[in-house]
Amino acid sequence: MLFYDIGPDVGRDYNSKAIFENYKILTNPNLMDKLFPVNTFEDIHPQYRETPIGLLLEFHNLNRQLVPYEKAQLLIGMCMDNRKHLHIPDNFAFIIRSGGANLRYSEFKVSYAIAVGQVSHIALIGHNNCGMVNLFSQQDKFIEGLVTTAGWTEERAKEHFTHFAPMFEISNETDFILSETNRLRQKYPKNMIAPLFYKVDDNKLYIIEEHGII
Ligand SMILES: [Zn+2]
Repeated sequence: MLFYDIGPDVGRDYNSKAIFENYKILTNPNLMDKLFPVNTFEDIHPQYRETPIGLLLEFHNLNRQLVPYEKAQLLIGMCMDNRKHLHIPDNFAFIIRSGGANLRYSEFKVSYAIAVGQVSHIALIGHNNCGMVNLFSQQDKFIEGLVTTAGWTEERAKEHFTHFAPMFEISNETDFILSETNRLRQKYPKNMIAPLFYKVDDNKLYIIEEHGII
């Protein structure tokens, strides 16, 4: 799936902005305006209350008592970024961590959590200052890092970046999460999928406002 989703030409000319524009989501300059804080139970949108999504918000933001679960209640997709730590009980969730909370290349694991793990809720959690935004600005650092730290040749490191960066770059954090949410809703129509956001400044979760829904 990795390669078929994007097509064989991606990455061959990584200086061509046009190629990457096809995979970007329109930039929204007001991204922080789209975040809905959760400071009380009433702040949790009714559709999420009394669901594992609401519980996640209660545990993390509202200090609901952490009581261990016997089986996972939901799947959480979140970025690999080290600045984020969720306050949740033992056994509460399957967690897939990937750059930008991008689950496009983790679908078998998503299906596994749903089919075998029997979870019917997915929380997608983006965060601010994500390294996957404007990934191409880090190209030189990435290549130099692989050469000096991993012992790769410059050519191999460059090819590696060229091949994978278009798959993982995102234009902005909230719009990407909304786009992933919609994609997963189409793919798994019986599951509840919630777009959430982690602010690394206050370590709180926010609900990403969906136009016309919240
Ligand atoms: Zn990130």
